[in-house]
Amino acid sequence: MFGLFKKALNKTKEALQTVVGTEKKEKLSKEIIEEALLEADMDYDLVEKIVSKLPDEVSKDKLRKEILWYFDTPNNKIEINDKPYVFLIIGVNGAGKTTTIAKLAHKFKKEGKSVILGAADTFRAAAIEQLSKWAEIVNVPIIKTKHGHDPAAVTYDTIASAKAKGIDIALIDTAGRLHNKINLQNELKKIVNVAKKAYENAPHKVILIIDGTQGSSAINQAKVFKEIIGADGVIITKLDGTAKGGSVFTIANELRLPIYYIGVGEKLDDLVEFNKEEFVNDLLE
Ligand code: GDP
Repeated sequence: MFGLFKKALNKTKEALQTVVGTEKKEKLSKEIIEEALLEADMDYDLVEKIVSKLPDEVSKDKLRKEILWYFDTPNNKIEINDKPYVFLIIGVNGAGKTTTIAKLAHKFKKEGKSVILGAADTFRAAAIEQLSKWAEIVNVPIIKTKHGHDPAAVTYDTIASAKAKGIDIALIDTAGRLHNKINLQNELKKIVNVAKKAYENAPHKVILIIDGTQGSSAINQAKVFKEIIGADGVIITKLDGTAKGGSVFTIANELRLPIYYIGVGEKLDDLVEFNKEEFVNDLLE
């Protein structure tokens, strides 16, 4: 499984190498490490914490251990232990919710599970269309209504349909318009309440989708979502297109939520289960 994160880390590693050099050195100076981690967009306080404990010359192995020590996120895997198992996918528009839902549907189908999608971002007509296209491509059923209809009703119908048809997994898209926080909060709360009416254990996982290229603005938006509705874990997207792989550490430490997967491209297979040891190994390799 080694090297799974390479695609996500290509650009970050290039950025690191401009600082560290391409030679495989056994030991690195503290200054070089500090500059390299900042270059990869790891947040300043975290870099200072890591660097302050290091001797002047550091082996990569020591550095790996030190980074892992501060990488404060559990390696939580999602275990599908109920039927239907309901995911509520939240996050700001453009973060990659729809694409990630398609990737998850594809992954679960490959594992032999049945999947249904719920288009509960009824605010944007384009979101319903986009999710419908993905449903066709992945070949899974979708519950949707017209643009502007009640998203909680779509949520209810999706879960009820999953129950009635014996479908394993329901993936529900939600709206992400943060400019009207109170409306969004009411809408998401209602969705959660109605989900529980459809099935008392739902939603099993509320997953926050975060654009890994957007730095602190994405983290602040994610914090608002976490505050208004709560989340069980995150999926960080678009790590293939960025030299800022260090943002993963910042997101983990700021949000204190497990990272379930990372998005490494726009295709269905571009979703990688997250593992912090492998991630750090690949970064420092
Ligand atoms: P939504 O508004 O949150 O539903 O976001 P979308 O799923 O529509 O994604 C917004 C854009 O980001 C689209 O152009 C996607 O193709 C792109 N995207 C999503 N995930 C990834 C990823 O992991 N890598 C890359 N490179 N692009 C992504």
